[in-house]
Amino acid sequence: MGSSATPAGPLHMLFFPLMSPGHMIPMVDMARLFATRGVRSTVVTTPVNAANLRRTVDSSAARGLLLSLHVIPFPDPAATGLAPGQENLSAVPTAHFNTFVMALFHFQAPLAAVLRDLRPDALVSDSLFTWTADLALELGIPRLIFHGAGAFPLFVLTNLVNYLPLDPSTDSFIMNGLPHPIRLYRNGLPELVDNFFMLKLLGEAEAKSYGVVVNTFYDMEPSYVDYYKNKNKNHHGIKAWCVGPVSLCCRAAEEKAERGEPPADRNRVLRWLDSKTAGSVVYVCFGSLCHFSGPQLKEIALGLEASGKAFVWVVRQEAAGDAAAETEWMPEGFEKRVEGRGLVVRGWAPQVEVLGHAAVGWFVTHCGWNSLQESACAGVPMITWPLFHEQFINEALVVDVMGVGVRMWEGFRRNRLEEEKVLVRAEEVAAVVGRVVGGGGEDVEAVARKAREYGEAAGKAVEDGGATYEDVTALIQELEGKRKEGRKEE
Ligand code: UDP
Repeated sequence: MGSSATPAGPLHMLFFPLMSPGHMIPMVDMARLFATRGVRSTVVTTPVNAANLRRTVDSSAARGLLLSLHVIPFPDPAATGLAPGQENLSAVPTAHFNTFVMALFHFQAPLAAVLRDLRPDALVSDSLFTWTADLALELGIPRLIFHGAGAFPLFVLTNLVNYLPLDPSTDSFIMNGLPHPIRLYRNGLPELVDNFFMLKLLGEAEAKSYGVVVNTFYDMEPSYVDYYKNKNKNHHGIKAWCVGPVSLCCRAAEEKAERGEPPADRNRVLRWLDSKTAGSVVYVCFGSLCHFSGPQLKEIALGLEASGKAFVWVVRQEAAGDAAAETEWMPEGFEKRVEGRGLVVRGWAPQVEVLGHAAVGWFVTHCGWNSLQESACAGVPMITWPLFHEQFINEALVVDVMGVGVRMWEGFRRNRLEEEKVLVRAEEVAAVVGRVVGGGGEDVEAVARKAREYGEAAGKAVEDGGATYEDVTALIQELEGKRKEGRKEE
C-alpha cells in the first residue's frame, strides 16, 4: 500500500455491500468466511442496515472472529430523493430503484474517509459502487469486485454483445459456442443491459480493479468458471476467485437464523416442518424484492391448494399481514382449507434452515443467485419462476446446464409490474407442483438425484482441500504478498 499507516497484525479486508438483502447477506457471509480464516473483516454500511446486522456481527465477535461493523451515514434525503429510513433496496418501491442506484454516488466522501482512516489491505466493493475503483487506485488499495451473480450469468452477460440479434423484433436467440447452447429471451435480459451509461462505468471500473470474488463453487459451473476466469485475465488482466457457497460458513443454527431480517415465526415454521415426512414439502419463496400483484398472489394460493401437496409459502410484500389488504388476494377460507397441509409465512423466512430441513423436497424459486446457491447447497431441486435482473439466465443454468430444476412454464413470460398481466395461472402451478413434489417419473427422479449430488459437492468445496477453500487460501496469500510489497516500498 505504500503507506506508513499500513497496519500490523492480521490482514484487514473491508467489505462494502450494496444495500439490498441479496447483496448484503452474501457479503456479510463472505466477511465472516474470511474472518474464520484469520482475516480481520470490517463491513461498512449505514445505520438502518447496521441495526439489522448487529446480531450477526456481535455473535460472531463473541465466538472470537475478527468481524466488525463500521457505520457511515446514509446520504441526506434532500440530495437523494429517497424518504428518510429508505436505506435498503427492499424498502424502496420497484419504480424507484434507479433513484436508489443514483444515491449510491453520494457515498464517495464518507467511504474515502473510512479508507484513509482504516487503510485496509483490500476493499471488497459491490460492483455498482463503480467509483470505488478510482478511489482504491488512488489509495493503493486492491479493489475486489463483488457482482452478486455467478460465473455462468457473468460470462453470458459479458458475451452478449456477440450474440444479441441486431433485429429488435427477434424475441429469442440461441447462444451457441458454449458447452450448452442457451436460449435467451430479449425481454428476459437484465434491465442493466439497456443502461449504457452504467455499463460503461462498470466496464471501466472492472478494468481498474484487482480482481473479482464470486459466490460460487467450481463444481457447480466448472466450464463457466474456467471461461470467466480466463476471460477476465485475458481482457482486463484481472483474476477471479470462487469463494462460495458463502452461506456454508454459517454452521450453527443461530448463524443461519441470523442472516437477513429477523425471521417471522421461525420456531413455528421449523416445528411444522418437523411434523412432515422427508421430501414431501415444497418451499415457495421469491426472494427479498419481489412484489406480486394481488391477482398473481391469488393464482399462487389456488394453485398450491389444488396441487394437493404440502407447502410453505413466503408472502413478503405489504399485502401480507394487513387484514384489509389481504382480502384482495387471499382466497376466502384459504388458510382454513389448507390447515395442516400448507403454511403461509408473512415476512421473512429462515430460508437456509428451511431448505436444509429434511421435509423440504422442492423449492419454487425466482432464481435469485443466492437462492440458487442455497438450494444447491441443500441438495434441493428447483421449480423455476424467474422475475427480473439476471434470473432468466440463472434459470437456464438450473434447468439446461445443471439439470437440477424444472420450469414452471415453457417459453418466455415475465410478470413484473406492468408486465404482470401475463399471469401464471393456478392450473399451471397445480400441475407442476402436483407432478414433481414427493416423486414423479424417472425424469423428475433424475433431477432430484442431480440436486443431491450438487449438495454433496458444495460441502466438499468448502472443506480443507476443496476448490473454494483453496481459492480463499490463494487470495489471502496474494493479498499478504501485496502487503509485504507495500511495506518494502515504504
Ligand atoms: N431470504 C431469506 N428469507 C426470505 C427471503 C429471502 O432468508 O424470506 C434470503 C435468501 O436466503 C437469500 C436472499 O434473501 O440469501 C435473497 O437473495 P436472492 O439472490 O435469492 O434474491 P433477491 O432477493 O436478491 O432477489
